[in-house]
Amino acid sequence: MANLFDYDRAGLEARFQAAGHRAFHARQVMKWAYHRGCLGFAGMTDLAKGLRTWLDETASFTPLQAVRRRASADGTIKWAMRIGNGDCVETVLIPERGRNTLCVSSQVGCMLDCAFCATGKQGFNGNLTTAEIIGQVWLVNEELKQRGQCVSNVVLMGMGEPLLNCEAVLPAVSLMLDDLAFGISKRRVTISTAGVAPAIRALAGVTDVSLAVSLHASTDALRDQLVPLNRKYPLAELLDACRHYLSSLGDRRALTMEYTLLKGVNDSPAQAKQLARLLRGLRCKVNLIPFNPFSGSGFARPSAEVVRTFQTTLMNAGQAAMLRTTRGEDIGAACGQLTGSVVDRTRRQARYRAGLQLLREAAA
Ligand code: SAH
Repeated sequence: MANLFDYDRAGLEARFQAAGHRAFHARQVMKWAYHRGCLGFAGMTDLAKGLRTWLDETASFTPLQAVRRRASADGTIKWAMRIGNGDCVETVLIPERGRNTLCVSSQVGCMLDCAFCATGKQGFNGNLTTAEIIGQVWLVNEELKQRGQCVSNVVLMGMGEPLLNCEAVLPAVSLMLDDLAFGISKRRVTISTAGVAPAIRALAGVTDVSLAVSLHASTDALRDQLVPLNRKYPLAELLDACRHYLSSLGDRRALTMEYTLLKGVNDSPAQAKQLARLLRGLRCKVNLIPFNPFSGSGFARPSAEVVRTFQTTLMNAGQAAMLRTTRGEDIGAACGQLTGSVVDRTRRQARYRAGLQLLREAAA
């Protein structure tokens, strides 16, 4: 049985056509599932009986199951969603002034092991499918619809590295943009990456959504420590790939450079100046994220004053920089705090080897 949440429009049309049905009916089915929230084929009353029988026999729209929902004092909501293998991933809704931003997970855990990220510390247990990625959006959107609202922005900044799961992420992104599904503007869908340079290059021409790059350091020596992936794709190569992607966008959009501020590690004014120098000439804005602590992390958040000074130093050097307000910290929903429940089936060494293998494939 196929889960039709796994298909974007082109995929669904092809599936219908391969079985001798018209592509038009695939589009009807999408409207039922995404616009009207109707997942049972019996309820899709404008489909011919024969078509409904074929659908019933071969497919379903199986949604994710939300097993836990926690609301923060600041309005942020975090769900734990059960996926096929029994693990849980987390999804966070951040409501703010007329916007509903959904932070979506792309993998079960993460293999990149960034020094300051809780997701990385808990290990990795595989990729999410397209259905499991878009299922997060569907579920939350249905809840918002009851309040006359909808998901207006999506950031792939939850658990996992989206660019190590392009095969599932790209169809999901295509559904986010599609008028027959969520119809979100490309500017309001953001892929966040730790810096898989060849995948960033490959994205050019394939999609034109917004891109955020997790930089965190302006020298290779420091970035090697914070984001181990930097040993494979150092700064020069990463920024080159970023320029390539930027030039593929048909507009004046800027990249976002995420920079988690870690006390005494990357938060000095000298480092701010160095960062501004590194980014000179690249159309981007820096998004400063004061570190969100979790137990045993070994890092601390700099004081508000240090954060402000870092931001001002960047801006005085001509680099646009904004501060990301921490949201949902009381429910462990802030950046880098998402852990879900993941059985780490890879020991660290095996994980590292598996990571390298994937990266080689990405580079091939
Ligand atoms: N793998 C992707 C997306 C997930 S992380 C990426 O690396 O971009 C989303 C953002 O949160 C990244 O910029 C990440 O570096 C940042 N982050 C991770 N842990 C954090 C923490 N403890 N405090 C603040 N930001 C953190």
